[in-house]
Amino acid sequence: MGAEPGLPERLAAVRAGIARAAGEAGRDPGELTLVVVTKFQPVQLVRELIELGVHDFGESRHPEAAQKAAAIEAECGPGLVRWHFVGQIQGNKARQIARYTDVVHSLDRPRLVQPLLDAGPPDVFLEVNLTEDPARGGVAPECLPELARLASAAGLRVRGVMGVAPRDEDPAQAFARLARYGDRLREIVPDATELSAGMSGDYRQAIAAGATHLRIGTAITGNRPVPR
Ligand SMILES: *Cc1c(COP(=O)(O)O)cnc(C)c1O
Repeated sequence: MGAEPGLPERLAAVRAGIARAAGEAGRDPGELTLVVVTKFQPVQLVRELIELGVHDFGESRHPEAAQKAAAIEAECGPGLVRWHFVGQIQGNKARQIARYTDVVHSLDRPRLVQPLLDAGPPDVFLEVNLTEDPARGGVAPECLPELARLASAAGLRVRGVMGVAPRDEDPAQAFARLARYGDRLREIVPDATELSAGMSGDYRQAIAAGATHLRIGTAITGNRPVPR
Protein backbone atom coordinates (compact mmCIF):
# COMPACT_ATOMS: atom_id res chain seq x y z
CA MET A 1 0.00 0.00 0.00
CA GLY A 2 1.24 3.43 -0.92
CA ALA A 3 4.37 2.23 -2.71
CA GLU A 4 5.03 3.74 -6.14
CA PRO A 5 4.24 1.29 -8.93
CA GLY A 6 7.42 -0.31 -10.24
CA LEU A 7 8.42 -1.18 -13.77
CA PRO A 8 6.46 -4.48 -13.91
CA GLU A 9 3.29 -2.73 -12.72
CA ARG A 10 3.64 0.16 -15.16
CA LEU A 11 4.28 -2.23 -18.06
CA ALA A 12 1.29 -4.35 -17.05
CA ALA A 13 -0.90 -1.26 -16.79
CA VAL A 14 0.05 -0.10 -20.30
CA ARG A 15 -0.45 -3.58 -21.73
CA ALA A 16 -3.89 -3.66 -20.13
CA GLY A 17 -4.65 -0.16 -21.46
CA ILE A 18 -3.67 -1.28 -24.95
CA ALA A 19 -5.87 -4.37 -24.73
CA ARG A 20 -8.79 -2.29 -23.50
CA ALA A 21 -8.40 0.34 -26.23
CA ALA A 22 -8.13 -2.40 -28.85
CA GLY A 23 -11.31 -4.01 -27.54
CA GLU A 24 -13.16 -0.69 -27.65
CA ALA A 25 -11.99 -0.15 -31.23
CA GLY A 26 -13.02 -3.67 -32.22
CA ARG A 27 -9.42 -4.53 -33.03
CA ASP A 28 -7.31 -7.60 -32.33
CA PRO A 29 -4.57 -6.65 -29.81
CA GLY A 30 -2.39 -9.23 -31.55
CA GLU A 31 -1.98 -6.87 -34.50
CA LEU A 32 -0.43 -4.19 -32.25
CA THR A 33 3.31 -3.94 -31.63
CA LEU A 34 4.37 -2.22 -28.43
CA VAL A 35 7.70 -0.47 -28.93
CA VAL A 36 9.05 0.59 -25.54
CA VAL A 37 11.00 3.82 -25.96
CA THR A 38 14.13 3.67 -23.79
CA LYS A 39 15.92 6.82 -24.99
CA PHE A 40 18.08 8.40 -22.25
CA GLN A 41 17.51 5.33 -20.06
CA PRO A 42 20.36 3.06 -18.95
CA VAL A 43 20.90 -0.33 -20.56
CA GLN A 44 19.99 -1.92 -17.22
CA LEU A 45 16.40 -0.82 -17.82
CA VAL A 46 16.47 -2.53 -21.22
CA ARG A 47 17.63 -5.74 -19.50
CA GLU A 48 14.77 -5.54 -17.00
CA LEU A 49 12.27 -5.00 -19.80
CA ILE A 50 13.63 -7.98 -21.75
CA GLU A 51 13.09 -10.08 -18.67
CA LEU A 52 9.50 -8.82 -18.57
CA GLY A 53 8.97 -10.01 -22.13
CA VAL A 54 9.57 -6.81 -24.13
CA HIS A 55 11.29 -7.45 -27.45
CA ASP A 56 10.85 -4.16 -29.33
CA PHE A 57 12.82 -1.12 -28.20
CA GLY A 58 12.72 2.45 -29.47
CA GLU A 59 15.68 4.80 -29.40
CA SER A 60 16.15 8.28 -30.76
CA ARG A 61 19.80 9.20 -30.49
CA HIS A 62 22.98 7.88 -32.00
CA PRO A 63 25.43 6.78 -30.53
CA GLU A 64 23.45 6.12 -27.35
CA ALA A 65 21.27 3.64 -29.23
CA ALA A 66 24.29 1.88 -30.75
CA GLN A 67 25.83 1.35 -27.34
CA LYS A 68 22.70 -0.24 -25.92
CA ALA A 69 22.17 -2.44 -28.96
CA ALA A 70 25.80 -3.60 -28.79
CA ALA A 71 25.57 -4.36 -25.06
CA ILE A 72 22.43 -6.45 -25.46
CA GLU A 73 23.80 -8.26 -28.49
CA ALA A 74 26.97 -9.11 -26.57
CA GLU A 75 24.94 -10.57 -23.72
CA CYS A 76 22.04 -12.22 -25.52
CA GLY A 77 23.26 -12.73 -29.07
CA PRO A 78 21.98 -11.05 -32.21
CA GLY A 79 18.31 -11.15 -33.11
CA LEU A 80 16.88 -11.48 -29.59
CA VAL A 81 15.27 -8.06 -29.65
CA ARG A 82 14.40 -5.54 -32.35
CA TRP A 83 15.64 -1.95 -32.34
CA HIS A 84 13.42 0.81 -33.69
CA PHE A 85 14.93 4.20 -34.43
CA VAL A 86 12.26 6.84 -33.81
CA GLY A 87 14.23 10.11 -33.66
CA GLN A 88 15.34 12.60 -36.27
CA ILE A 89 18.24 11.25 -38.32
CA GLN A 90 21.23 13.34 -39.26
CA GLY A 91 22.33 12.55 -42.78
CA ASN A 92 25.86 11.71 -41.74
CA LYS A 93 24.62 9.24 -39.10
CA ALA A 94 22.16 7.31 -41.27
CA ARG A 95 24.62 4.63 -42.32
CA GLN A 96 25.71 3.90 -38.75
CA ILE A 97 22.13 3.85 -37.50
CA ALA A 98 21.16 1.35 -40.19
CA ARG A 99 23.79 -1.10 -38.94
CA TYR A 100 21.99 -1.89 -35.68
CA THR A 101 18.43 -0.77 -36.39
CA ASP A 102 15.72 -3.17 -37.54
CA VAL A 103 13.04 -0.57 -38.24
CA VAL A 104 13.53 3.14 -38.90
CA HIS A 105 10.34 5.09 -38.08
CA SER A 106 11.67 8.47 -39.15
CA LEU A 107 12.64 8.36 -42.80
CA ASP A 108 11.69 11.86 -43.93
CA ARG A 109 13.92 12.88 -46.79
CA PRO A 110 15.53 11.50 -49.92
CA ARG A 111 19.05 11.95 -48.63
CA LEU A 112 18.63 9.15 -46.07
CA VAL A 113 17.55 6.50 -48.58
CA GLN A 114 20.90 5.47 -50.00
CA PRO A 115 22.85 5.30 -46.72
CA LEU A 116 20.07 3.22 -45.14
CA LEU A 117 20.07 0.88 -48.14
CA ASP A 118 23.85 0.53 -48.12
CA ALA A 119 24.20 -0.36 -44.47
CA GLY A 120 21.12 -2.32 -43.41
CA PRO A 121 18.79 -2.03 -44.84
CA PRO A 122 16.22 -1.60 -42.09
CA ASP A 123 12.49 -1.57 -42.84
CA VAL A 124 11.15 1.97 -42.81
CA PHE A 125 8.16 4.04 -41.88
CA LEU A 126 7.88 7.41 -43.61
CA GLU A 127 7.47 10.09 -40.96
CA VAL A 128 4.93 12.76 -41.85
CA ASN A 129 5.16 16.18 -40.22
CA LEU A 130 1.72 16.80 -38.69
CA THR A 131 2.61 20.34 -37.61
CA GLU A 132 2.92 23.56 -39.60
CA ASP A 133 6.53 23.92 -38.48
CA PRO A 134 8.98 22.72 -41.14
CA ALA A 135 11.73 22.44 -38.49
CA ARG A 136 9.97 19.48 -36.91
CA GLY A 137 10.82 16.01 -38.15
CA GLY A 138 8.78 14.49 -40.92
CA VAL A 139 8.15 14.96 -44.60
CA ALA A 140 5.56 17.57 -45.60
CA PRO A 141 2.35 15.75 -46.58
CA GLU A 142 2.53 16.94 -50.19
CA CYS A 143 6.00 15.42 -50.57
CA LEU A 144 5.02 12.03 -49.13
CA PRO A 145 4.05 10.30 -52.41
CA GLU A 146 7.30 11.25 -54.12
CA LEU A 147 9.41 10.17 -51.13
CA ALA A 148 7.51 6.86 -51.08
CA ARG A 149 8.17 6.34 -54.78
CA LEU A 150 11.83 7.06 -54.34
CA ALA A 151 12.36 4.89 -51.25
CA SER A 152 10.53 1.87 -52.59
CA ALA A 153 12.05 2.11 -56.07
CA ALA A 154 15.48 2.17 -54.43
CA GLY A 155 14.62 -1.08 -52.62
CA LEU A 156 13.65 -0.09 -49.09
CA ARG A 157 10.73 -1.97 -47.56
CA VAL A 158 8.25 0.79 -46.73
CA ARG A 159 5.83 -0.41 -44.03
CA GLY A 160 3.67 2.64 -43.47
CA VAL A 161 3.54 6.19 -42.17
CA MET A 162 4.60 7.48 -38.77
CA GLY A 163 3.52 10.62 -36.98
CA VAL A 164 3.68 12.53 -33.72
CA ALA A 165 0.50 14.40 -32.75
CA PRO A 166 1.07 18.16 -32.42
CA ARG A 167 0.64 19.55 -28.91
CA ASP A 168 -2.04 21.99 -30.01
CA GLU A 169 -4.29 19.54 -31.86
CA ASP A 170 -6.67 16.88 -30.59
CA PRO A 171 -4.68 13.66 -31.09
CA ALA A 172 -7.74 11.85 -32.47
CA GLN A 173 -7.94 14.44 -35.22
CA ALA A 174 -4.18 14.40 -35.87
CA PHE A 175 -4.13 10.59 -36.14
CA ALA A 176 -7.15 10.63 -38.47
CA ARG A 177 -5.12 12.90 -40.77
CA LEU A 178 -2.15 10.57 -40.45
CA ALA A 179 -4.33 7.60 -41.38
CA ARG A 180 -5.39 9.45 -44.54
CA TYR A 181 -1.73 10.01 -45.41
CA GLY A 182 -1.35 6.26 -44.99
CA ASP A 183 -4.11 5.77 -47.59
CA ARG A 184 -2.21 8.07 -49.92
CA LEU A 185 1.00 6.11 -49.32
CA ARG A 186 -0.77 2.88 -50.32
CA GLU A 187 -1.56 4.34 -53.75
CA ILE A 188 2.22 4.14 -54.28
CA VAL A 189 3.18 1.18 -52.05
CA PRO A 190 0.08 -1.03 -51.71
CA ASP A 191 1.47 -3.24 -48.95
CA ALA A 192 2.53 -0.34 -46.68
CA THR A 193 -0.37 -1.15 -44.37
CA GLU A 194 1.18 -0.36 -40.99
CA LEU A 195 0.83 2.82 -38.95
CA SER A 196 3.30 4.02 -36.29
CA ALA A 197 1.43 6.34 -33.95
CA GLY A 198 0.72 6.83 -30.28
CA MET A 199 2.89 7.70 -27.29
CA SER A 200 2.33 7.60 -23.53
CA GLY A 201 -0.33 10.30 -23.58
CA ASP A 202 -2.25 9.42 -26.72
CA TYR A 203 -1.90 5.73 -27.53
CA ARG A 204 -5.62 5.09 -26.99
CA GLN A 205 -6.56 7.61 -29.69
CA ALA A 206 -3.87 6.12 -31.94
CA ILE A 207 -5.30 2.62 -31.54
CA ALA A 208 -8.75 3.95 -32.40
CA ALA A 209 -7.26 5.53 -35.54
CA GLY A 210 -5.66 2.26 -36.68
CA ALA A 211 -2.13 2.37 -35.25
CA THR A 212 -0.17 -0.89 -35.50
CA HIS A 213 3.04 0.31 -33.78
CA LEU A 214 2.78 2.17 -30.47
CA ARG A 215 5.90 4.01 -29.31
CA ILE A 216 5.53 4.30 -25.56
CA GLY A 217 8.21 5.60 -23.21
CA THR A 218 7.52 7.31 -19.90
CA ALA A 219 4.22 5.58 -19.08
CA ILE A 220 6.31 2.41 -18.79
CA THR A 221 9.82 3.55 -17.91
CA GLY A 222 8.90 6.40 -15.58
CA ASN A 223 10.47 9.79 -16.11
CA ARG A 224 13.52 9.97 -18.33
CA PRO A 225 16.82 11.07 -16.82
CA VAL A 226 17.61 14.61 -17.97
CA PRO A 227 19.49 14.37 -21.28
CA ARG A 228 23.11 15.33 -21.04
C1 LIG B 1 10.24 9.97 -26.95
C2 LIG B 1 9.41 9.53 -28.06
C3 LIG B 1 8.31 8.68 -27.87
C4 LIG B 1 7.87 8.22 -26.48
O1 LIG B 1 7.31 9.29 -25.81
P1 LIG B 1 6.61 9.11 -24.36
O2 LIG B 1 5.80 10.34 -24.19
O3 LIG B 1 7.72 8.99 -23.37
O4 LIG B 1 5.78 7.89 -24.42
C5 LIG B 1 7.59 8.27 -28.97
N1 LIG B 1 7.91 8.67 -30.21
C6 LIG B 1 8.94 9.49 -30.45
C7 LIG B 1 9.23 9.91 -31.85
C8 LIG B 1 9.72 9.96 -29.39
O5 LIG B 1 10.73 10.79 -29.64
